[in-house]
Amino acid sequence: MALDIQKIRAQFPILHQEVNGKPLIYFDNAATTQKPQEVIDALSNYYHTDNSNIHRGAHTLADRATRYYESTRTLLKDFINAKEEAEIIFTKGTTEGINLVASCFGKKFIEQGDEIIISTLEHHSNIVPWQILCEEKGAKLNIIPINEAGEIDFEAFENLLSSKTKLVSIVHASNALGTINPVEKIITKAHQVGAKVLLDGAQSSSHLEIDVQALDCDFFVLSAHKLYGPTGLGILYGKREVLDAMPPYQGGGEMIKEVTFAKTTFNELPFKFEAGTPNIADVIAFGKALEFINELGKKAIKAHEDELLSYASAELSKINGFIPVGTAKDKVSVISFNINGMHPFDVGMMLDANGIAVRTGHHCTQPLMQRFGIEGTVRASFAVYNTKSEVDALVASVAKIAKLKNKS
Ligand code: PMP
Repeated sequence: MALDIQKIRAQFPILHQEVNGKPLIYFDNAATTQKPQEVIDALSNYYHTDNSNIHRGAHTLADRATRYYESTRTLLKDFINAKEEAEIIFTKGTTEGINLVASCFGKKFIEQGDEIIISTLEHHSNIVPWQILCEEKGAKLNIIPINEAGEIDFEAFENLLSSKTKLVSIVHASNALGTINPVEKIITKAHQVGAKVLLDGAQSSSHLEIDVQALDCDFFVLSAHKLYGPTGLGILYGKREVLDAMPPYQGGGEMIKEVTFAKTTFNELPFKFEAGTPNIADVIAFGKALEFINELGKKAIKAHEDELLSYASAELSKINGFIPVGTAKDKVSVISFNINGMHPFDVGMMLDANGIAVRTGHHCTQPLMQRFGIEGTVRASFAVYNTKSEVDALVASVAKIAKLKNKS
């Protein structure tokens, strides 16, 4: 059934404002999504009525806060179909999830001469931690090339795989181009040489149904703020046997079983990787964001976003001077483009003057921009609350801007 977009929009207070004298059109959803009222309320309700430290309190508030906090973990287990809650580790976000794996998996399992594979499409957060690790360990970082459409070269990937490959860490859906990678095939091939696979789900998790058991990935990371939840929060999913084999990330409270000056023993999963008092309020509010998504259903969300994507792509392509960047067959709702003769930043400024929020620049994917020989792009990215008439406004504005340099 089609979604009632106006009813959905009514739940997002931030959308109902003017920017530069024009109604706000928010098309920067790949950077961060807006938050529904329920999420905003959950943050303030927590501090009004439930604030308490979790897991060890013997009083009612501590018990309540613990139950709410842990119920988000259960929601997340179901959201990505993990086997058990213990496989869901709360982090600061995708970036920290990847760094945790680079640090802990890397410390134990990466040795001199080993190889790690990433792709040209990666966000800096899925490049730099591996560069640091490879430098430290004397390991090699291999990069899967892409074609002009922004799709990975699968044959080249197969050729990079060998018994030296210990890990393949790859983006599920590109934040810069929208490309959805063929992760099922990638995981199968990687496992054939005994490599583990990490999926960067920062972008895919809000658009695609995620089933980590069906995918059989070893790690999956995501950020709450791309899923209508709070910033500075995310999860690392890992298969129990892999997480169990890894040393802890940080030392401190919560992550221990027993501490003496002679020896410390570590807590069980997931707490082994969650040192210190966590981001309790935001985790609880994230639960409300997940309920919001679950209520609408990922299928319906994707159907709506796909409609906006194909409509916007078709309409923008008619504009003289419009240059799409990344034209993969399989995409999430991201359109990256340039206007002939114009700097992406200038296009972004002009769109902002019309109340339209887009992202411009390299999108934390500088090597990808280098691959295309460009400095950056203008990126419009859609979420469930966006409408066709907002796309019309974008197309009209882009057409006007393009005309400045591209007389038809
Ligand atoms: N990977 C991808 C594909 C992303 O889009 C982002 C966020 N732009 C990240 C990683 C990093 O996420 P965060 O900043 O929330 O840690």
